[in-house]
Amino acid sequence: YPTDINDMEHLGELGSGTCGHVVKMRHRPSNSIIAVKQMRWSGDSEENKRIYMDLEVVLKCHDCPYIVSCYGCFITDADVWICMELMSTSFDKLTKLLSSPLPEDIIGRVALGTVRALHYLKERHGVMHRDIKPSNILLDSNGNVKLCDFGISGRLVNSKAKSGNAGCAAYMAPERISPGTPDYDVRADVWSLGITLVELATGMFPYKDCKSDFEVLSRVLQDEPPKLPNNNFSPEFHAFVEACLRKDYHQRPKYNKLLDHPFLLRYTTKYVDVGAWFAHVQRMSKNVGNHQWNCQDTTRQENS
Ligand code: ADP
Ligand code: MG
Repeated sequence: YPTDINDMEHLGELGSGTCGHVVKMRHRPSNSIIAVKQMRWSGDSEENKRIYMDLEVVLKCHDCPYIVSCYGCFITDADVWICMELMSTSFDKLTKLLSSPLPEDIIGRVALGTVRALHYLKERHGVMHRDIKPSNILLDSNGNVKLCDFGISGRLVNSKAKSGNAGCAAYMAPERISPGTPDYDVRADVWSLGITLVELATGMFPYKDCKSDFEVLSRVLQDEPPKLPNNNFSPEFHAFVEACLRKDYHQRPKYNKLLDHPFLLRYTTKYVDVGAWFAHVQRMSKNVGNHQWNCQDTTRQENS
């Protein structure tokens, strides 16, 4: 575990968001390369709370294989650095890189990993994530899917989260938007997962035509929920998305039910080589053209 901040060598930027930025660094003594989320204490106590929450959750989830591992942290007067295992990419970057839908088998693995992570968070720590979206779902080079970014996750009291309008408007469940529902529960994250899966399956954010967050929120409340396009996807995948995106959250399943859904049950037994698919995507992104990846066929030679 890194113990001296001066042992850390900067290797480049990995991402940035609301809280700070994430960089790639080498820990010189062990010669290991890790990801470090660098955040600055601010004068704003709300922002500082996010930093604490992010750190607290990631530190206590060390025994969950579906949550990014933390190696420790550096806390100085000015900054907080969270040292984490280095992942290869996040799903927002992957959809941009591909600019086309992901194969159903890959999305199935994403759905299973994310639901297992959320279920673990709820059952073991009484926490909901509240910011499920492609940029907070990571992939490593072995094809493991892991959840990150717990800055706005919330502690549950009697299984309900006290309202707070933190989170990305675009993925927010109807009950978090409409006035008159002060509390909400884990099913708000299930909605965000549904939106995320539609985005991965179409290559596009379902409310992408909207000009403002306000317009997105109005459409979430008024329109029929987004659906998968009719072609190419299995009935089980359609049904899974339909269940996640029920506007009335009383009708929406919680994690136990989702884990028993035929779509997720398929991926508890079916082997999908996500790592090989990702390696293929990386090679292909350097070339131009139409290439199909076949899940069963991972030994194929590229004719580039
Ligand atoms: P923010 O609170 O700013 O959204 P995140 O924790 O979501 O911060 O990280 C921002 C981005 O940095 C992610 O979307 C991802 O692309 C990248 N990133 C975060 N953690 C890692 C990691 N452990 N390995 C590789 N990339 C990461
Ligand atoms: Mg994020």
